[in-house]
Amino acid sequence: MSHFDCDLLVVGLGPVGDVVAGLARLQGLSVIAIDKSQAIYPLPRAAVFDGEIMRVFQMLGIEDELGPYTRIGDRYQFLTANREILLDFPLAQTGPYGWADSYAFHQPALESILRKRIGALGVDVRLGVAATGLRQTDDGVEVTLEGADGAQTVRARYVTGCDGASSLIRSTLGVGLSDYDFDEPWLVIDAEIPSKHAPPVVAQQICDAARPITHLAMAGDRFRWEFMILPGEAPDEISRDDRIRELLAPWGAVEHMRIDRKAVYRFHGLVADRWRVGRVFLAGDAAHQTPPFAGQGMCAGIRDAVNLAWKIAAVVRGEAEGQILDSYQEEREPHARVVIETAIAMGRVVCVLDAKAAAARDAEMLARRATGAQDVSIAYPDLSGALFSNSAAAGSLFPQPVVNGRRFDILLGNSPALIGDDLPGDVPAPIIRLDLGDDRLAPYADALRAWLREQGASSVMVRPDRHVFGVGEAEQLLADWEHALKTPVAA
Ligand SMILES: Cc1cc2nc3c(=O)[nH]c(=O)nc-3n(C[C@H](O)[C@H](O)[C@H](O)COP(=O)(O)OP(=O)(O)OC[C@H]3O[C@@H](n4cnc5c(N)ncnc54)[C@H](O)[C@@H]3O)c2cc1C
Repeated sequence: MSHFDCDLLVVGLGPVGDVVAGLARLQGLSVIAIDKSQAIYPLPRAAVFDGEIMRVFQMLGIEDELGPYTRIGDRYQFLTANREILLDFPLAQTGPYGWADSYAFHQPALESILRKRIGALGVDVRLGVAATGLRQTDDGVEVTLEGADGAQTVRARYVTGCDGASSLIRSTLGVGLSDYDFDEPWLVIDAEIPSKHAPPVVAQQICDAARPITHLAMAGDRFRWEFMILPGEAPDEISRDDRIRELLAPWGAVEHMRIDRKAVYRFHGLVADRWRVGRVFLAGDAAHQTPPFAGQGMCAGIRDAVNLAWKIAAVVRGEAEGQILDSYQEEREPHARVVIETAIAMGRVVCVLDAKAAAARDAEMLARRATGAQDVSIAYPDLSGALFSNSAAAGSLFPQPVVNGRRFDILLGNSPALIGDDLPGDVPAPIIRLDLGDDRLAPYADALRAWLREQGASSVMVRPDRHVFGVGEAEQLLADWEHALKTPVAA
């Protein structure tokens, strides 16, 4: 009998811990997941996520339940104080991954749906239980937990520290943070407003040197405002209800607004130096933190979760060597850094308090916009590293065709998939074989063949995290996949 209590111990059940726990369960791992708090975090935080993340929620089977708590965005704009457009990001209603480009949402609603789902999937969820220390052994990790029933040690093959910005797991491992040197204080307010008094349904950064402001319609009757705290202003003073009402007055109907949540945050950019130490991984805010201007902090953490869960499972099942786990930081850190750098670039547009500097910024950006140029891009890069083949499209996200409301991923499940025409009759488990000539593929075959033609290939191997391993000839892809899983990742 195994001397482990679980394959994976997830420390911290914010959105990232929930997702890694749920995906690891779907991969067949035994999972214990703990959170020191009994309740879901009550303060305002994430307000939007993107279509890539909705696709992860689809993997977990919560997309329908989540729907009513989301609002699809149509554009994200940065405006001058006079409401001229500095940056404009139009957002598709159905993007290449089968979902809209952007969803505004209510984070506590998402987290309660996730919590319920991972319980239903069989994750052993323990609330009111804090991790207080850990010790790595030759083949696993012993973690000390403390809860109402006292202290206890859990033995796990692997641990993910999803315990947020002040991660105890990170500090216990002695992992430092590198700092982008961006540090701005903001007041964040969520309000509920009945529809007949609702302000415009927009997602805007108002780059007003007198006070930069974020204004965002969330789902249903909820709206988000973020106000930069000016030098010399005391956070306690500006957070008073009477001051908040003054700040919100320009949007009218303050008497009809119910202030739901408020908090002061310092927006900053931080990245952990190491994301893996032995059998312990850092994910989400424990590994990286970003200013919220790109709406990507939680998204980046969920990308960590989806990158990591299948890899740990492949190693536990003996399908891959332990060294492939080094590909986690190799693949994720460069991507997370681009996200943070994008958010900081946006923040540097927004957080200008000097009137002359703001006027110069406006003049320059408006002139560039008149030529059709835009200063900031939200096209994030593909992944790269040793767990991809050396082919076209490797590292990109595989598209998800949608036909008559049905999405292709339903055929992918949680396994690696070989997709193409005239595939070999047998492929080794757990790879699934999706031959475009099969009837069940028929609705999606045209779109997928067109994509393969663009790559100049007859087949594609897609990893369980929906990233393209590589394209090419099927037998070669199978051999390359086997080799990649069994070959240590280059340092
Ligand atoms: C104002 C603001 C706006 C934002 N907007 C967006 C946005 O629009 N889009 C977006 O994608 N992101 C956004 N973010 C970022 C997003 O909210 C975070 O990145 C995300 O919540 C991090 O999730 P997490 O699971 O990594 O950490 P957390 O949500 O912080 O969860 C960590 C969990 O670990 C638990 N824990 C801590 N220590 C222990 C321990 N020792 N033992 C057991 N449990 C422990 C905590 O109780 C907590 O539940 C925003 C953040 C802020 C502040």
